[in-house]
Formats: sequence, structure tokens, C-alpha cells
Amino acid sequence: MDLGIQGRRALVCASSKGLGRGCAEALAGEGVSLVLNARGAEALDATAGAIRQQFGVDVVTVAADITAESGQAEVLAAAGEVDILVTNAGGPPPGMWWDWNRDDFISAFDANLLTPIALIKALLPSMIDRGWGRIVNITSVAVKAPIPVLGLSNTARSGLTGYVAGVSRQVAGTGVTINNLLPGLHDTDRLAMLDKVDAGARGISEEEARAARIATVPAGRFGTAEEFGAACAWLCSEKAGFVIGQNILLDGGAFPGAL
Ligand code: NAP
Repeated sequence: MDLGIQGRRALVCASSKGLGRGCAEALAGEGVSLVLNARGAEALDATAGAIRQQFGVDVVTVAADITAESGQAEVLAAAGEVDILVTNAGGPPPGMWWDWNRDDFISAFDANLLTPIALIKALLPSMIDRGWGRIVNITSVAVKAPIPVLGLSNTARSGLTGYVAGVSRQVAGTGVTINNLLPGLHDTDRLAMLDKVDAGARGISEEEARAARIATVPAGRFGTAEEFGAACAWLCSEKAGFVIGQNILLDGGAFPGAL
């Protein structure tokens, strides 16, 4: 299927690795030029080089913390007018309810709620003026089925879900769509970190923690960044113009509800 976005330009945040990289690669595969971001310049440059070589698209990189106002300003200045925005940032650490104080919540809100809102607010006007835009937020299964140890994530991402539900409908007639992609368990560094914490807490090996986590997925495996990226590229496509304000779950069947 031709997704109809060849020649478009995308900003993909937090994209040197994992799910952000998967989205960047899938968009590049459709002929979309990219602005990529992460804090670490080395991995970012390596990812940009690999994408240029494989897909032959232009790739600009901005090594900056997307959760800081200065980082957002740097990224937005380099991006200029983009047709597609994929928001993403690292997820908050796991813990128990008594671990989380005000500063922890503020950090989580900055990363997973206020950063995507700031980027959306900055880029929406030019998308609306040009009559076309696609915004996809990488959130989490946690907004549909909260994960107890990820209380900071559950709270921040639920806020973003509420924000998108309203704003996506406010701009729905302009040619701009805003939707959320909800990853379930995907095989990335983030998941390896959570397995490590889980193994330490339960006194088991990381392999045992990983196997126990896989056992919760009816598909019998973790998702891949490539599969996640393909869903993102479709949501960013010309074909998905009637998809507004949705929360699309990619979890191998783990969420047990009918809807
Ligand atoms: P990952 O493999 O750890 O990759 C994170 C990427 O984001 C890296 O490129 C990292 O590069 C970049 N990054 C992190 N913090 C950043 C910041 N402040 N500014 C700019 N770039 C930043 O993580 P992932 O698994 O792809 O997860 C992506 C998001 O999906 C996270 O919010 C995560 O909580 C959420 N999620 C993941 C899963 C899963 O199963 N993997 C499930 C549910 C939700 P640098 O470190 O160099 O900055």
C-alpha cells in the first residue's frame, strides 16, 4: 500500500533507539525526511547514518533533552515546519506509591505530559495553515490498563490522553489528525531495564523475569519496534485522515477486554 506521504517531513522525538527509532525507520521507508532527536549524540548519529544509508532520505539530528524547555526550543528551531510530529520521551522509573513525591510527579508530567503538549502547541499552527498534519503520541498500555509499579507513567499519560481527546476534535476539520499509539510489551532497552528491576525485587534472574513477562502476552512474544513503526507510519499516512483522537493499543492481545 502506498501511504501517500513521500516527500513529507517528520519530527520524531526520542528516536535514536527503541520505539521512536522504529517510527523513524518506517516513515523513512515511505520517503519521509526526518528530524531525529535524543540526548546521546553518538547513538543518534549512528541511527541517522543507518537510516540515510538504508532509505536515502534527508535526516537532521538534534542531540538535546526533549523534556527541557531549552531542548524543545533547539529541536523546534531545527525542525521548522514539519508535516508529521511523533512525540516520545523516556518513561518514568518504576516504584511504589510511597516512593513518589512532588518532584517525581513534576518530572513525569514534564516528560510524558507537558513536553508533548508544548510540541503539539508549537507545531499545530503551521500544520493548520497548510491544511495537513499528522501527530502521533507514543503513550502506553498503562492508560488502558494501569501498571501498578508505573504509577508516575499511569498518571502523566492519562493526562495526555485527556488532552488529546479534546484537542484532536478541536482541530479535526483542519486536515490535522492527532492520535495516540499505546505500546504494550515491546522488546527495547526500556523493557530490559524493567526486567532488571523486577528481577532484583523478586530475587530471580533477568531471564526468568523476561520469561514471566512474555507469559502475560497471548501472542507469546514481545512486539518489535518495526511492527510499532509500521502502525505509526500508517497513522501518519494520507489513508488515515479519518482517524481522529484514537488510542490504538499494540500489545499482542495482553489487554483482556473486548473493546
Ligand atoms: P528505549 O528503548 O529506552 O528508547 C528510548 C529512546 O528515547 C532513546 O533513543 C533515548 O535516547 C531517547 N530518550 C529518552 N529520554 C529522552 C529525553 N529526555 N530527550 C530526548 N530523547 C530521550 O525506550 P522505548 O521502549 O522505545 O520506550 C519509548 C516510550 O514508550 C517510553 O516513554 C516508554 O515508557 C514507553 N513504553 C514502552 C514500552 C515497551 O514495552 N518498550 C511499553 C509501554 C510504554 P537517549 O537516552 O540518548 O536520550
